[in-house]
Amino acid sequence: MQEQENQPSIPPWVWILGLVTVAIGAQMWLTGSFDGPEKIPMDEVAALIEAGEVKSITVRKDKIEVVLPDGTIYGSTKHSDDSLTETWEYYGISTEQLASIDYSVPDQAAMNTMISIAITILPILLLIWIFSRGFRQMQGGSGGIFGFGKSRAKNLNDGDRPTVTFADVAGVDEAKQDLVEVVQFLKEPEKFVQVGARIPKGVLMIGPPGTGKTLLARAIAGEAGVPFFHISGSEFVEMFVGVGASRVRDLFNKAKQNAPSIVFVDEIDAVGRQRGAGMGGGNDEREQTLNQILVEMDGFDNETNIIVMAATNRADVLDPALLRPGRFDRKVFVDLPDVKGRESILKVHGRGKPIDEAVSFRDMARLTAGFSGADLENLINEAAIFAARRDQKTIGMLEFQDAFDRVALGPERKSKVMSENDKLTIAYHEAGHAVVSFHLPNTDPVQKITIVPRGQAGGYVMPLPEDRMVVSREFFEDKITMTLGGRAAEEIFFGRITTGASSDLQQATRMARAMIMEYGMSDVLGLPTYSSGGSNPFLGRQMAYLGNQRNYSEEAARIIDSEVKKILESGYEKALEIIRENPDKLMSLAKTLLDMETLDRTVFEDLMTDVPTDSSLAMA
Ligand code: ADP
Ligand code: MG
Ligand code: ZN
Repeated sequence: MQEQENQPSIPPWVWILGLVTVAIGAQMWLTGSFDGPEKIPMDEVAALIEAGEVKSITVRKDKIEVVLPDGTIYGSTKHSDDSLTETWEYYGISTEQLASIDYSVPDQAAMNTMISIAITILPILLLIWIFSRGFRQMQGGSGGIFGFGKSRAKNLNDGDRPTVTFADVAGVDEAKQDLVEVVQFLKEPEKFVQVGARIPKGVLMIGPPGTGKTLLARAIAGEAGVPFFHISGSEFVEMFVGVGASRVRDLFNKAKQNAPSIVFVDEIDAVGRQRGAGMGGGNDEREQTLNQILVEMDGFDNETNIIVMAATNRADVLDPALLRPGRFDRKVFVDLPDVKGRESILKVHGRGKPIDEAVSFRDMARLTAGFSGADLENLINEAAIFAARRDQKTIGMLEFQDAFDRVALGPERKSKVMSENDKLTIAYHEAGHAVVSFHLPNTDPVQKITIVPRGQAGGYVMPLPEDRMVVSREFFEDKITMTLGGRAAEEIFFGRITTGASSDLQQATRMARAMIMEYGMSDVLGLPTYSSGGSNPFLGRQMAYLGNQRNYSEEAARIIDSEVKKILESGYEKALEIIRENPDKLMSLAKTLLDMETLDRTVFEDLMTDVPTDSSLAMA
């Protein structure tokens, strides 16, 4: 497939010009548009024959070519209504006279058919050829029109063998921890199979662009020393129906032949979007490709030592079929790095570069809140470019500052850089959630607090959920209170309210409505449920259109609204109260957050109970 690329190729316009010329020429020849030999009338031809001065006659349809012994050629046209025999008779030429002449009638019919076929087919061939060129370019030169079904996984036969390892991936320790097991399995599958352990088949990595998802997948292959087969969902979107599926089949076959191995499906959201969602009907190609991925994964048995890894930054749009047990049932979040993470990423990419001693990666990490790993790599690279342009031997702080401006404002950045002011607001907001949660009896413990953005959220407080079969009214109330804690903190400390709390409000409202409408937790409305059914506000995705069908009266709707308001207001009051009672706790938490960006449960609880920790010392 590759060799084709190296052939000296004739420019397309030469081909087109040539073919067109041939076609037109043939057409002209058929219709006799060439000037040809001197024309004489038919009776002169007859006279020449009678005089015995003709050597040969060639008849093509109604064109007659007369050659004299001296080589002179004349052309003539017979009267097309008459047959040639009739014409000779008319001029009184006998068969004997004709017999003495070299008289030939080439098989015109056959010739004509061939030429008309050629004329019909040439343009078609031309079109096919142009199309095949086009497709080959679309495919980036892999195999042209006949290479469609072949997977573009790099190095088809034995995969790619990455040399990167976990050491090259920094700042995503949680994700790495989650993936260690995958490496172990790939290294020693027998160990797991022997004890009948169910092996992970599919691992879905979720995170914003540039956080190192592809890098992690390659690092796993590198750590385990197994081949790596890579395809990208976006490649399939513009293909012919059926091609994507056959590529997937091909890819998995190769992976199986080289097992243990990793199949990496990048941008899986491009093929794995919810089927039937969105406008304008489904995309058959996408569905078939997705189905084929699922069929392949379902076909794995315990002996199949392949791990399918997929990456997306839009887990919310994925088809639920992908997330079912036995498919991509492991989810690994690859978040934007926090300040420590950014520092270690800078170190990884600064390795082997002549970086000035005055440059502090610590300070650079502080400055770059909101940067992804790819942004940081880019930052170092830009700094190096500045240094080279300035004829410097080392990369100094000035270069880093200029590079920062370029990267932070650059067009390719997808995540936004956080301003100091944003960080401050978010830190107090998240601290508000956490402090309120800590002081409520019915909430889950706080597992992690961070001001590193994820998705639309500026930061988040992650609870450690306990398993509950049933949920009490108090749990709901406390959860609503905690959800409103962010906004309450903003109001108390800044006296203003930002848009940062809008999704909190939505969530709290949804919970309050569910309490009243689905769980009969309102004193006023009592037991009847008013839900249109089907959607669970905590588990399911929101089906906005379901909410439109109402099966209750205007009166009930008004009461529901006022009850929801009551629940929200009392929750908000309670949140304000807790924060007013613990302003110093909240402030020290917010400060620690500004410094560390991410806190885990122990650091958080120590802060709340005033035990000094390493991290609170590090604050200074
Ligand atoms: P994603 O697949 O999540 O969009 P990539 O893995 O393609 O991101 O990252 C692009 C590049 O950015 C990587 O090749 C690497 O150089 C750098 N990078 C991203 N994240 C990290 C990280 N956590 N540690 C080190 N380098 C990173
Ligand atoms: Mg990627
Ligand atoms: Zn919030």
